[in-house]
Amino acid sequence: MLDATMPASPAPKPGAPPGGAGRGAITLSGISRIFAGTVPAVDGVDLQIEAGEFFTLLGPSGCGKTTLLRMIAGFETPDKGRILISGREMQNIPAHQRAVNTVFQSYALFPHLTVADNIGFGLRMRGIKGEEKTRRVNGIMDLLQIGQFAKRNPSQLSGGQRQRVALARALVNEPEVVLLDEPLSALDAKLRNELQIELLRMQKRLGMTFIFVTHDQHEALVMSDRIAVMSKGRLQQVGPVLDVYEKPRNVFVAEFLGLSNIWPITPSGPGAADTPLGRLEITTPMAGAGMAMIRPEKIWIYNDNAVPEGPPNIFRGVVKEAIYMGASTQYRIEVAGAQTVLALDTNNAAAERSWRAGEAVAVEIKPGNIMLIEA
Ligand code: ATP
Repeated sequence: MLDATMPASPAPKPGAPPGGAGRGAITLSGISRIFAGTVPAVDGVDLQIEAGEFFTLLGPSGCGKTTLLRMIAGFETPDKGRILISGREMQNIPAHQRAVNTVFQSYALFPHLTVADNIGFGLRMRGIKGEEKTRRVNGIMDLLQIGQFAKRNPSQLSGGQRQRVALARALVNEPEVVLLDEPLSALDAKLRNELQIELLRMQKRLGMTFIFVTHDQHEALVMSDRIAVMSKGRLQQVGPVLDVYEKPRNVFVAEFLGLSNIWPITPSGPGAADTPLGRLEITTPMAGAGMAMIRPEKIWIYNDNAVPEGPPNIFRGVVKEAIYMGASTQYRIEVAGAQTVLALDTNNAAAERSWRAGEAVAVEIKPGNIMLIEA
C-alpha cells in the first residue's frame, strides 16, 4: 500500500533476472509502428529502461513519443519488435492486464464522481473495497496533499489540483510502471515547476518506473535520471541527463536540448582546426572535417580593454543583442565580420560584467569546452 511513510525504492531482489528484467523494467527490441500510407511513426527502437528509473522521452512534436508510450501501455500494437515489461512478453496482453498506468495531459477524470471516488475507481474495479480501499485512497491523497478536496467534484478544482487527482488515480493502483504523457503541459509555469519537483520526489520515494513524455527540454533536464532524444521515430541519443547535455552526439541533440554554437570545423594541423570564426585550438584529435559545438554558458566575455593576453581562441567582436532573462543575460556577439557567437552570462556580478548592444567585446572559447559532434 502507498502511504506518506513508505520507504525509499526497494533494492533489486537477489536473483532478479539479468538484463533489466526486474519488477518495472522495460525492454523494447526493434519496435516499429507504421501507420497506413505514412513514414514510420516509430522506427526500430531498441531501449532498456531500468526498474525504478525516471526515464524521459524528449523530442519535437510528431517524433513518435506518444506512439511509443501507447505501445508500452498496450493501446497501440507494434508492427515489428517485442516489448517486455518486468521480463514478461507483452504480445497478446491487453492494456488492462499490463502492470502499467497512464496519466494523460487531459486529466480524463469522471466529472460526476468525487475526488475520492475518482481515485478509488480502479481499486473498486479490481474488487478492493471497504477499509482497504479507504486506507489506500486516503494514503495517496495525503501524499499528494489533496485530502481536503476528497468530497469535491473535478469541476470544483483548479487545473493543478485536477492533475494531482489524475496522478493519485494512477499511483493508487501501485502499478509497476507509470506512463506520463505531457501531464504538466496545461499548467502555468510556477505550478508546473512545483509539480515537477513533487513528482520527482514521489517517484524516488515509491520506487516505481516512470516514463515521461515531453517536448519541453527544461522539464526533461529537471526531472529525468536518463533521457532519450527522439527525432522522426528514431532514438538519437540515450543517456544520463548530464551526458546528453554536455556531450550531445549530433547537431539535432545539441540544438534540441539547450542552446548551442555549432560551426563546421576542418583539421589544420596538430591541435588546431579552421572554422568560420578563424583558427581554433582544440584538444580532441580529429580524423577529418566535422562539427564543433560549444554551449553559450561556456563562452567567456571580456571588455574590449581588458582582454587577457596568452590564452588561445580569443576573438574580438561587437554585441549585437543583449536579452535580459532575470538570472542570466543572453548575448549575440558578432565576430570575424559576420559570425554569430551566442553567450550566456549569469547576472551575479557587478554592472561591469553586463554589456549593451553596440559594445566592443572579446570572447574566449576554451579548447576543453569544444565538443566535436556528428552532423
Ligand atoms: P506530440 O508531441 O505532438 O504529441 P509525438 O512525438 O507524441 O507528438 P506521435 O503522436 O507519436 O508524436 O505521432 C508520430 C507520427 O505518427 C505523427 O506524424 C502522427 O501524425 C502520426 N500518427 C500518430 N497517430 C496516428 C494514427 N492513429 N494514424 C495515422 N498517423 C498517426
